Amino acid sequence: MAAEVLAEAGARVAVYDRMPSVARKFLMAGRGGLNLTHSEPMDRFAGRYGKRSAVLKPALDAFTPRDLRAWADSLGAETFVGTSGRVFPKAMKASPLLRAWLNRLEGLGVVIHLRHDWRGWDDEALLFDTHDGPLRVAADRTILALGGASWPRLGSDGGWMPLLESKGVEIAPFRPANAGFTTQWTQHFAEKFAGEPLKNIALSFGGKTVRGEAMLTRAGLEGGAVYALSGPLRDAIASYGHADLMIDLRPDMNAGQVASKLGRASAKDSLSNRLRKALNLSPAAIGLVHETKASDIKAVPLRLSAMQGLDRAISSAGGIRFEAVTPGFELKALPGVHAIGEMLDWEAPTGGYLLQASFATAVTAARDVLADT
Ligand SMILES: Cc1cc2nc3c(=O)[nH]c(=O)nc-3n(C[C@H](O)[C@H](O)[C@H](O)COP(=O)(O)OP(=O)(O)OC[C@H]3O[C@@H](n4cnc5c(N)ncnc54)[C@H](O)[C@@H]3O)c2cc1C
Repeated sequence: MAAEVLAEAGARVAVYDRMPSVARKFLMAGRGGLNLTHSEPMDRFAGRYGKRSAVLKPALDAFTPRDLRAWADSLGAETFVGTSGRVFPKAMKASPLLRAWLNRLEGLGVVIHLRHDWRGWDDEALLFDTHDGPLRVAADRTILALGGASWPRLGSDGGWMPLLESKGVEIAPFRPANAGFTTQWTQHFAEKFAGEPLKNIALSFGGKTVRGEAMLTRAGLEGGAVYALSGPLRDAIASYGHADLMIDLRPDMNAGQVASKLGRASAKDSLSNRLRKALNLSPAAIGLVHETKASDIKAVPLRLSAMQGLDRAISSAGGIRFEAVTPGFELKALPGVHAIGEMLDWEAPTGGYLLQASFATAVTAARDVLADT
């Protein structure tokens, strides 16, 4: 995105990526439908970045969710607003959009160099490891967009951290964000229900309730509703060694409605059959009631013991501290070098907020470079 803004203004731009092809994480995001952004009002949207809302707001204002939709539309990837307010391309995947985007960049003269692993600087020059040995590249300006540290096999492994730290850039350690959690399932439950969704549920923790969906995994629980609570859950586990999540399996009914439906069910039926017939609970939800020995399907307690690691997290918290960059995302310790996207120390839930902030910081950094040249 930064390359596009710069090249459109007439700059000569080269992009270097260590992988054999670009945008692997973007393509992976496409597997889930490519949730580009969200349609809610800007104040609520910006609030999703928590403590970083204020510092990201100017970038979000400079490249808004509406701008992102217009950009996708201009590449032939017409977008729509889903029932949850999330914005997706109609094709529900990333590859056609990426193809059109790469064509546009090529037309603008952007040159992409693959299998170039950035290793820092040699004097003033950028230093890359390539198949043909080390390569030194002189650049007037550099924008680093090396990503965070989740899903390292897609290219971003946070390996840049010590390189920048040694230059005096202040960095907060990486932690998983939007990741699943571990719990102690019995072997029987894990074998029977891993991979099964819990649909139309509500999860509560620390005074916050989120409606949505979760996925039972061998080790615990993951999915949108879990990710939305993952920051507070992660912090509670760090402080107390565990976090007690409450699951409401029928949030669309109140306790009285649940009791009366169950009361009308035949006493001869087993509990499982009553839950299925009277409340229409899925086998996985019924299994969970038995597994946790819950007495109330609107308050099924689940003790979470750990957050899953960076290797499977959707995104990472931590990265370059905002104190270390100017409002245009130029590194104070390294004038002429900007950093954008998940390299910066912000986090947000899933819902399109991750790509939106990555794109918005790219646009702001590119404009900052242009204003300075
Ligand atoms: C499974 C999954 C699903 C997701 N779904 C969504 C979604 O639907 N909506 C959403 O908003 N977000 C989603 N995200 C998050 C989103 O993809 C990221 O927030 C976004 O891609 C971050 O962009 P970035 O440019 O900062 O980093 P990245 O996309 O990680 O790009 C960084 C690039 O830098 C390259 N690189 C790293 N180090 C070096 C080096 N030393 N030398 C050369 N190149 C290097 C990498 O190869 C990579 O190409 C998803 C993430 C995952 C893992």
